Amino acid sequence: MKLIDLEQLSLQQAATALRQRDFSSFELVTALLEAIHRRQGELNAYTWVDEQDALAQAEAADAALAAGRAGALLGVPLVIKDNISVAGQPCTCASRILDGYRAPFDATAIERLRSAGALFVGRANMDEFALGSTTEASCYGPSRNPAAPGRVTGGSSGGSAAAVAGGIALGALGSDTGGSIRQPASFCGCVGLKPSYGRISRFGAVACASSLDQIGPITRTVRDAALLLGVMAGPDTRDSTSVDQPVPDYVAGCEGGVRGLRLGLPRDYFAEGNDPEVTACVRRLADRCRDAGAEIVEVGLPHTRYAVATYYIIMTAEVSANLARFDGVRYGARADDPQSPEDLYCRTRAACFGSEVKRRILLGTYVLSSGYYDAYYLRALKARTLIRRDFEQAFAGCDALLAPVSPTPAYPAGMGQADPLALYLGDSYTVAASLAGICGLSLPCGTTAAGLPVGLQVLGPAFAEDRMLRVAAACEELHARERGGRP
Ligand code: GLN
Repeated sequence: MKLIDLEQLSLQQAATALRQRDFSSFELVTALLEAIHRRQGELNAYTWVDEQDALAQAEAADAALAAGRAGALLGVPLVIKDNISVAGQPCTCASRILDGYRAPFDATAIERLRSAGALFVGRANMDEFALGSTTEASCYGPSRNPAAPGRVTGGSSGGSAAAVAGGIALGALGSDTGGSIRQPASFCGCVGLKPSYGRISRFGAVACASSLDQIGPITRTVRDAALLLGVMAGPDTRDSTSVDQPVPDYVAGCEGGVRGLRLGLPRDYFAEGNDPEVTACVRRLADRCRDAGAEIVEVGLPHTRYAVATYYIIMTAEVSANLARFDGVRYGARADDPQSPEDLYCRTRAACFGSEVKRRILLGTYVLSSGYYDAYYLRALKARTLIRRDFEQAFAGCDALLAPVSPTPAYPAGMGQADPLALYLGDSYTVAASLAGICGLSLPCGTTAAGLPVGLQVLGPAFAEDRMLRVAAACEELHARERGGRP
């Protein structure tokens, strides 16, 4: 058996090695479970692992491989954020209110990965109901950043990013409503892809803010993200917001480089308040793109300054409606000895929701209430249109945008509790793409002097994931060349 280097192995390499019988799925999953044993205590990336079930899935995959069955991910283990349904596994959204709940069905994205042969070995930690930017708001306690000790993983898909960056997952799924895939990927030093709104079915993902949510991959390489996207993308009759657009071969589309492309640097994303080392890393990679034959142009996204306010009105409004279903009646935890239905709802929700979830429900209920609806919610919808138009105008003059993911590298641990407003402002460069429904990807583009990972955000027009991936793969290569090694 070949030595399995879980720290380096990509999904593509794992799938090829399994096909060539370099190692079996059972051996791969065994090695992975050992690595999880070694590092889970420190990283707290998983909320649940069933070793027997993982090994049984691996044995079934080995039998399928021996029978000559094909499948792009046959025998390859993945970890899934704890808000995406995998039949028979817990799906708690890291909330006490879903304690004991198991998903009775597969999300469409999971169904498609399963058909391609993927295995589901565990659930990844997250901020409760995907509300947060640190993964500190989890009922399981915070995940820890393997690339930056003493710093948060980012969130809300922080468990997924920590597992991939820490060598205890080869690839993961997260969800992104306003940055929850891109930001933790950038804080932990891996790749995270938020598809265009409608690209991947949301059926089976627990709704956070329905007009913004998307499922997407967190991986070590751009091509791995392309691989998972290709398997999951495409319309689904069970999600009427999924869109029937052609799904090209995204992995093949990663070739091509940036020569001849026009890449925009949005000046509004290089504000005074940015950490200078973040700005420097992003600009340096843009310079390398220019050296490689791309034209670099400055573009404006003038409504960026309204993005955080707009997002936190629209998302909280939708969250307050979506989370109304968790009332102690149908799912998970329930208050003891209720005196009336109202008493049951109130005591269950008061005891089982964390403080950030309550804050969002209160804000959302407020902006939707009569008298405030026009002043806040309606105005936010209008601002959303202006933000969408900003991107349309920018993409009229360039093929893709290069920007920071976040104004700073990973926050110091403890920040999640300390200052909610500062965290909201930290989402300045991720939320606008979500409001506009376009696609975005985060990939490593350097480290600060203190060794903290810095992410580059590549943004593409809606349903132009192929072009975005081509740019991202080229950036990955240019960055690797600069470091004189592998991506
Ligand atoms: N950090 C953002 C928030 O707290 C994004 C969350 C997400 O994308 N799920 O709302």
